[in-house]
Amino acid sequence: MEFSSDLSQLIRVPQNVAILSHRNPDGDAIGSSLAMQHYLAQYGHTSHVIFPSEFPVEFEALPGAEEVLIWDIHTEECKHVLAKKNLFIFLDFNAYNRIDRLGDYVKDLPGSRIMIDHHLYPDPIADFIFSDTAASSTCEMVYQFIVGMGDHMKITPMVGKCIYTGLVTDTGSFRYATNPNVYRIAADLVERGTDDTAVQDMIFNSQTEKNLRLLGHCLSNRMEFYPEFRTALIWLSKKDYEQFNIQRGDTEGIVNYLLSVRDVKLAAFIHNQPTVVKLSLRSKGDLDVQEICKKHFNGGGHKNASGAYSHESLKATIDKFKNLLPEYKEQLLK
Ligand code: 5GP
Ligand code: MN
Repeated sequence: MEFSSDLSQLIRVPQNVAILSHRNPDGDAIGSSLAMQHYLAQYGHTSHVIFPSEFPVEFEALPGAEEVLIWDIHTEECKHVLAKKNLFIFLDFNAYNRIDRLGDYVKDLPGSRIMIDHHLYPDPIADFIFSDTAASSTCEMVYQFIVGMGDHMKITPMVGKCIYTGLVTDTGSFRYATNPNVYRIAADLVERGTDDTAVQDMIFNSQTEKNLRLLGHCLSNRMEFYPEFRTALIWLSKKDYEQFNIQRGDTEGIVNYLLSVRDVKLAAFIHNQPTVVKLSLRSKGDLDVQEICKKHFNGGGHKNASGAYSHESLKATIDKFKNLLPEYKEQLLK
C-alpha cells in the first residue's frame, strides 16, 4: 500500500465522510465499514455508513450497526446526508453497479474517493485505489491501511472486533482464502483485546429454528447432484421463500454444504428471491467461478466464490447453468 501526502492529509484532517459497501452486505462489508468508521472517529471525522440493502441480523451486535443507513429503506435521508459529503470510501466492492441506485446517485457527487477492495478487476472509480486480490478480505486490507498510516495504536478493541468479523466470514473461519497475514492479524487483534470466541459466537451461534428447518429442507428436498460434472446444486423457489418466510441473511452459507462433499468441485445455489433470481457459485481448486459468473450471468466476485443475478425465470436460470457444465467438463474432471 502506498500512502501519498494527499491521502494522509485526507485521513488526518477531519472530513465529512461516506463509507459505502455492496448490496447484501456480508460480514466483510459490514466489518470493514464499521472498522473504518471507528478508526476515522479517532481523527474527528464525521461519517455515515451507507449500504444499498439490509444486512443479516447477526451483525446488529457490532458497534455502530444501529446507525447504518440503508438506501432501500432510508432513501431520502441517504440523499440528504450524501449531498454534504466530501470524502467517499468504497469498501469491499469495485464497480458502481455493485451498489445499484446508490451508485447512480454517488457517481456524480463532487468529492474525493478512496477504494479498498479485494475483488477481481476493479473499475477506476476512485482517486486512491487499494486493490489486492490476494487479500483474504477487505477487513485484512483495512487493518493494513490503518497500520500503513502509522496508526497501529488506533486499532482499539472496537475496531478489532469489526476487522475480526470480516476475517472470519470471508475465510469461512480460517478454512479458505487464508494467507500468513490473516493469522498474524488475528493474533495481533486478540492481543489487542478482541474477544475472538465472542465474535465467532455472534456470527455462528445466532441461527433460529427456522434457519435449521430451511437448511433441512434444502438438503432433503432441493439438492441435485451431477456426478459426471462433479457439480451439485441447491435451488429455492418463490414458494419456498413464502413457506419458510425467508428474510435477509437466512440463506447465507447454505451453498457451502455442497462443497463438503468430497467429489464436488462446483457448487451452485440458485434461489428465486422476491424480485430477482440470485446465483451463488463456489468452487474448489483451479476452477474459476468468477469467469462463469461474469461471462454468462454478468456477475463477478472471486475465483472460488462468486455471485450474479438473473432476470430470467428460476427454471430458465437453472437450465442455463446446467447447460454450461459440458463447456467446463475438462476443468471439472481435472
Ligand atoms: P455470494 O454468492 O455470497 O452472494 O457472493 C460471493 C462473492 O461474489 C462475494 O464476494 C460477492 O461480493 C460477489 N458477488 C455476489 N454477487 C455478485 C454480483 O452480482 N456481481 C459481482 N460483481 N459480484 C458479486
Ligand atoms: Mn470481502
